[in-house]
Amino acid sequence: MNVLVIGASRGLGLEFARQFLADGATVSATARDAAGLERLRALGATALTLDVADAVSASGLAAQIKGAKFDIAIVNAGAGGPRSGGLDAPPEADFDLVMHTNVLGPMRVIPQIAEALAPGGTIAVLSSMMGSIGSRTSAGMSLYRASKSAVNSVLKDASLVLGAKAVCVALHPGWVRTDMGGSGADIDAPTSVAGMKKVLTGLKAKDNGSFVNYDGSAIPW
Ligand code: NAP
Repeated sequence: MNVLVIGASRGLGLEFARQFLADGATVSATARDAAGLERLRALGATALTLDVADAVSASGLAAQIKGAKFDIAIVNAGAGGPRSGGLDAPPEADFDLVMHTNVLGPMRVIPQIAEALAPGGTIAVLSSMMGSIGSRTSAGMSLYRASKSAVNSVLKDASLVLGAKAVCVALHPGWVRTDMGGSGADIDAPTSVAGMKKVLTGLKAKDNGSFVNYDGSAIPW
């Protein structure tokens, strides 16, 4: 199996790389800095430099993965942003950071990944339950929520455009103890990634365009 992980310097991305390598997969994975790239090389991954929020860096992905045939590609890079919510307008710098990382980044890399996907391969975006409008009961962290709702729309469009040759899904990893999730979160990264890996390796064509929890249950858009 040939796997690509976008945003794998730490947290869930690094754990995806670790677990797929442990399964015997060939893994290419991206990081933005030397320490992240070194962590990936030490695991046995092919380490690629990529900043999804930088136009020049992001446009260089295609050249780095040219000729590859990925069975599974995971767009994991994400930023949390401020904890404020409700009707508070975010500072423009926060808006740009969160939206560029969580929405523009996937919009930039998905078309390049599509060109390097094996027939019937999978593209997964790490979304969040917090992006679900259908199940929403809280308005906390509204900027992050808006970014994940927006990337869900991006993923849905990808599923419509690429449906004949790929299975595209949005994943919720659970509330996970990473730098983003914090130490009080529900589950650890190995549990979350093991669940998502089971989901990803069990997907069928009919699952294209779905929003799935790490335990395999469906999430309302
Ligand atoms: P994390 O520990 O904060 O790690 C974020 C990862 O994204 C890091 O590898 C980081 O790289 C990378 N990244 C950030 N900005 C980037 C950019 N501009 N270009 C490339 N890579 C970039 O977060 P996590 O908990 O592992 O979350 C992974 C994904 O799951 C995110 O999309 C997040 O929104 C989603 N998620 C997480 C939780 C949770 O409870 N943890 C829940 C729901 C959804 P650097 O080291 O270079 O910063």
